[in-house]
Amino acid sequence: MKKLVFATGNMDKLREIKQILADLDVEVLSMKEAGVNVDIVEDGKTFEENALIKARAVSKASGHLALADDSGLEVDALDKEPGIYSARYMGEDTSYDIKNNNIIERLAGVPDEKRTARFVCAMAAVFPDGTEKTFVRTMEGRIGYEIAGANGFGYDPIFYLPEYGKTSAEISPEEKNEISHRGKALRALAEYLADKEF
Ligand code: IMP
Repeated sequence: MKKLVFATGNMDKLREIKQILADLDVEVLSMKEAGVNVDIVEDGKTFEENALIKARAVSKASGHLALADDSGLEVDALDKEPGIYSARYMGEDTSYDIKNNNIIERLAGVPDEKRTARFVCAMAAVFPDGTEKTFVRTMEGRIGYEIAGANGFGYDPIFYLPEYGKTSAEISPEEKNEISHRGKALRALAEYLADKEF
């Protein structure tokens, strides 16, 4: 059976990718399962660069096809902050209640049409022979006026989806998978991998 390693320590992401790659007849290993223990410095300037940095390091260390993702929130009225610094915004250990309230405060007085924002996800694949492929996908929305919803994680409670009249923390996980930046990037990657040898 074909094998690949997903470069994350996050078990939720691993479960998600296993589901989406289920039809591919491929064994998806975590870094731990692949015996990979590398320190990766994510010093890229874009989501795509950071995803590639992780996938390259894990492919090199494991000798397998490696996949990695990098994602975050871009708020247009804040010059696309927090962007690649989404996890580190206001400090890695700061709660998302604080981060989300801070973003709402920084957007005080900004009208609806200027509250546009998007989640971005870059998925990278690096093959043992060095071949590289990336997919970048987005989910468009607006920053709401208050925190709402308990599904999802991170910035979901302030990410308002006008077509649903709800935040991405108020829709179901299945609904979110269908439309999310990560779901779309993963499905594009799964389609690409379908006829590849690795
Ligand atoms: P990473 O891709 O694991 O580095 O995560 C990037 C950060 O972006 C997360 O810690 C969240 O703050 C944010 N983020 C990425 N995707 C989502 C999402 O679907 N909902 C909410 N926050 C997200």
